Amino acid sequence: MTCAFDLAHYRDLLDAARAGGYRFATFDAPPQRGDVFLRHDVDLALDAAVRMAELEASAGATATYFLMTESVFYNLASSEGVAAFERIRGLGHRVGLHAVYPNTTLDGRFDPVVAWHNPDPEYMTAPVDGAVNAMGPDHFDPAHYRSDSNQRWRNGCPHEELARGAFEWLQLLTHPEIWVYGGATMGETMRSLLDADRERRLALLAEDRIDLT
Ligand SMILES: [Zn+2]
Ligand SMILES: [Zn+2]
Repeated sequence: MTCAFDLAHYRDLLDAARAGGYRFATFDAPPQRGDVFLRHDVDLALDAAVRMAELEASAGATATYFLMTESVFYNLASSEGVAAFERIRGLGHRVGLHAVYPNTTLDGRFDPVVAWHNPDPEYMTAPVDGAVNAMGPDHFDPAHYRSDSNQRWRNGCPHEELARGAFEWLQLLTHPEIWVYGGATMGETMRSLLDADRERRLALLAEDRIDLT
């Protein structure tokens, strides 16, 4: 098995968790033995989040998507944003706020769970009023955490450890863009994402009756 950052290997990770006897948990209760928290910080692309959400639903997995209200890359209030939100919810996933410090305003769309975007160490693990902090002491512990940040596993891809039940529990943070868009490095993947975004925006311009001739 090669540990590619693509949807086929993401599916392998879900299957490995299942084979290891894990259950897919959400952030409303502290971790118990056998819990895997599938966490997605959606920094750049809602379409990638929707594709990952569909894959998880087809695998019988429940995840928590952290969406931004202050992203410079997508607009949750647009028709596209509303549709993505409804689709992710409709597939049975949870939706928390991917918050930009210090704003943790949770409107009715969100479950009361927050994950900071690019946090500084001073507030990363601090309690958040009225919400669970995904990086708070209950849910975050370095030995029970893996992240695909910048398309690199700091402590290795966890598929093999999941399959043999090596973690007491695990918070697995993945960024959908990395798995949906092709590229052997983060730089290549980001360029794939931008190429797709350019095509998508050209189609939106045509829909808006902009003359592209
Ligand atoms: Zn792997
Ligand atoms: Zn982020």
